[in-house]
Amino acid sequence: MREGPSRQVFWALGAFLTAVLLAGIYLPSDDPCSEPVTYRIGSVDARFGLSPGEVAEAAERAAAVWEEASGRDLFREDDSGAVEINLVYDYRQATADRLRGITGKIENTRSYYESLKLWFTTREAEFGQRRDALTQDIDAYHERLGDLNARYKAASRSGRVTEDVYRDLNECREELDQERESLQSRKDELDGEALALNDLVTLINQIAQSLNLEVVNYQTTGKPLTDEFQEGCFENRNGLQSITVYYFSDRNHLVRLLAHELGHALGLGHVENPDALMHRINRSESLDPAPEDLEALSALCGGK
Ligand SMILES: [Zn+2]
Repeated sequence: MREGPSRQVFWALGAFLTAVLLAGIYLPSDDPCSEPVTYRIGSVDARFGLSPGEVAEAAERAAAVWEEASGRDLFREDDSGAVEINLVYDYRQATADRLRGITGKIENTRSYYESLKLWFTTREAEFGQRRDALTQDIDAYHERLGDLNARYKAASRSGRVTEDVYRDLNECREELDQERESLQSRKDELDGEALALNDLVTLINQIAQSLNLEVVNYQTTGKPLTDEFQEGCFENRNGLQSITVYYFSDRNHLVRLLAHELGHALGLGHVENPDALMHRINRSESLDPAPEDLEALSALCGGK
């Protein structure tokens, strides 16, 4: 579950995902492609449902995409490999997993996108009504509580608390205790619904990105949209190279993601064609390099 069960999560709607981005900070070596880039499988969170061996298999397939295209030995798995590949499970994969439970198979289609949006709008409206009603009832509760306290005080000041008054006050207090419990459980339910709505927006924006549609902006906070949804990234920090995977929808998607990040490890940058492996957004399903990928590869490594 996500941390911090609060209604604030709802207010952060839309501050979430603006793009399914594949970030890459890459530093090409002096003599790229002359020596294979070595990599190793680091930590693989079990919640992805893949063993390290299966991740290694996916990495091998990803490496083969570039090797076949270039006719060169570009990558090699090695226990002390330079690039560590890690699968880190966080809200991104968790969101997709939860939603798959709710909505079934997630599709990157326009009609699926439209139906999700409609579903969201309905649920959001209902959420708003329930939240307003709860706020009113909480106010009413506080008023009755203040009332009761005043009556307690008045009764004890008078020093003449009859049995009737005493019973009446106690009944009132018990009622209020029950009311408080019911308000609390309504609030808990609403908090859960806020998380679900957050997930929905996340998914809707993910699909919007892959369909090249405008990102839905359910912005209720006035905060700028800053967070980017990265499926994975390649980093070279102080000579420590790593590929981190956060999200993939299936095995094929993972291979494509790894091919993209291994491309960065090799020294490739992003290309413009949205269907290319090296486009900044991983939106195509094809594992074949696009002409732009091949151009970048041959510019880096020299002709075949
Ligand atoms: Zn990238």
